[in-house]
Amino acid sequence: MSKGSGSKAVDVIDFCADPNCQAAIYIGQKVVKRGKDWFCCYSCLCNSIGAVTIVTKGGE
Ligand SMILES: [Zn+2]
Repeated sequence: MSKGSGSKAVDVIDFCADPNCQAAIYIGQKVVKRGKDWFCCYSCLCNSIGAVTIVTKGGE
């Protein structure tokens, strides 16, 4: 709908498969591939499979 920004001729070929991210993925970009899904980074891949980064604690 916005005029003036119609000349963005970027080579977007897909979007990050993480629904919380959905960053544009460009030709030549390094991505993380899982099956047919492409992720812009490992964090997004982890999010999509429910893996999280934690800080381990000593003891138990
Ligand atoms: Zn992403």
